[in-house]
Amino acid sequence: MIHILHIEKSAFFRKSLNHTIEPLGYRVSESASLEEAFEILESEDIDLIIMALADNEHMVQELSASDYDNIPILILTSTDDMETREKLFRLGISDYILKNQITEKRLRNYLESFQKYKGIDVAGSRLKLAVLDDSSTSLSVINKVFAGSDFKNIVYYSRSKDLLASEEVYDIYIVDLVLKEMTGEEVMLEIRSKNPHAIIIIISSVDHNRTISNLLIHGADDFIVKPFDRNIFIARIKAHIRTYFLREELEEKNRQLSEMINIDGLTGLYNHKYTMEVLDIEFSRCLRYEHDLSVAMFDIDYFKRVNDTYGHPIGDEILIEVAGILNRNTRKTDIVGRYGGEEFFIIFTECDYQQAHVAAEKIRKAVEDHDFPYIGSLTLSGGVSTYDGHGINEMISRADKKLYEAKNQGRNRVL
Ligand code: GH3
Ligand code: MG
Ligand code: MG
Repeated sequence: MIHILHIEKSAFFRKSLNHTIEPLGYRVSESASLEEAFEILESEDIDLIIMALADNEHMVQELSASDYDNIPILILTSTDDMETREKLFRLGISDYILKNQITEKRLRNYLESFQKYKGIDVAGSRLKLAVLDDSSTSLSVINKVFAGSDFKNIVYYSRSKDLLASEEVYDIYIVDLVLKEMTGEEVMLEIRSKNPHAIIIIISSVDHNRTISNLLIHGADDFIVKPFDRNIFIARIKAHIRTYFLREELEEKNRQLSEMINIDGLTGLYNHKYTMEVLDIEFSRCLRYEHDLSVAMFDIDYFKRVNDTYGHPIGDEILIEVAGILNRNTRKTDIVGRYGGEEFFIIFTECDYQQAHVAAEKIRKAVEDHDFPYIGSLTLSGGVSTYDGHGINEMISRADKKLYEAKNQGRNRVL
C-alpha cells in the first residue's frame, strides 16, 4: 500500500485532504511541521510527500537536500504560471496539482498512476543487473548509488571478459564505454547479439556527440555521462524498465491472441481448424519416422434431447463439462479438439489401434461414470482409426464410419 506523508500546518486542511485520500485505500501520516515530518521519515517508509506550497519553499529545499531526496514530492499550489512551474521543478518537486483543481477524481487518478508505477518499480527491483567498469572508484560510486535504491540483484564486473563469459543472463547491463581489454561498444554489441531485449545503458565521462549517437544507433538503450546525479541515474533505469515490462506484456498478449485463434470459444478445446493443422503435421511425422498415429471421433449420444429438455444454455454447460473430462482423461501429447457441434476429435500420437482404442474406451467410461449437473448421466459413442498407408481423409472417414456403427449398435461404445 502507498504510504503518504502529508505536511500541512493547518489541522483543518490536513483533515480535509486526508478525508479524501484515506477512503481511496492509501495510508496517510500527518505532520504539522518539517521537524515532525523528518521524525516520521526516519521511522516509516514513505512513498510520497504531499504538501502545499504557500510559504513552504524552504521545506521543499530542505527535503531535497536531505537523505530523503529520492521520495517524490507532490505540491498543492494555487498559483500556476511559468515562473512558478520553473521554480517548483528547480526545487526538486516531482509534480504539482492546482488547489482549485483538486477533486477526488483527479487525486485518485494521480495516486492510481503513482501506485501503478510503484508496482512496476517493485517488480523492476527484482530484475538482474550487471555493472561493468574497470575503474574501482567508478564501481564503488555506482555501488553506493544502488545501495540507496530498491535494486538488490546486482553483480559488479571489472573485466569485460568475465561478464561476457558469465552464464548468467541479466535484464539490465550498465557498461562503461572506455575499458582496457575491449571497448564498451564491443561489449554492448556482444551482449545485444546474445540478449536482444536486455536494457543496455552505457556510462562514460566522454560526452562526444558522435560517440553517443553511434552507440544509440547500434543497440545501446541509453547513454549516461559521468558524473551523474544519482536520482536521475536511477530514474532513467526505471524508465527503461517500464518499456521493458510493456514489451513483455505485449509479447504475452500476442501469445494469448495467437493461442485464442486456435481455441474453440465455448469449450476451450482446440478448434476444428487447428486440430486438422496438427493432424497434418503429425501425419507427416508419422510418414517420415514411421511412427504409429491414431485418431478418434466422438459424438455425444442423444444430445438433442438435452437441449430440448433443458435448453441450449444448459446444453452448452454440458459440452464444457464433457470437454473437461476429455482433457483430464488424455495425455499431454494427445490433441483434443472440438470437431463441431457435439462431436470431438482426438489425435493419439504414437499409438497403434490397440492403444488408441484403450485410451478412447477410458474416455467413454469416464463420461458414462460422470455425474453431470442437471441431467445426471450422459454417454458418448466413438470410432477409432489408425494410419494404414492411406491418406488423412481416408483415416478420418474410417473413424467416422466406426462411430456411425457404434451408434447403430446401440450407442455408448467405442469401435
Ligand atoms: P445421436 O445419439 O444420434 O448423436 O443423437 P443426437 O441427438 O446427439 O444427434 P444430433 O446430431 O441429431 O443432434 C446433435 C445436437 O447437438 C443438435 C444440436 O442442437 C446440438 N448442438 C450442437 N452444437 C451445440 C452447441 O454448441 N450447444 C448446444 N447446446 N447444443 C449443440
Ligand atoms: Mg450426437
Ligand atoms: Mg452429432
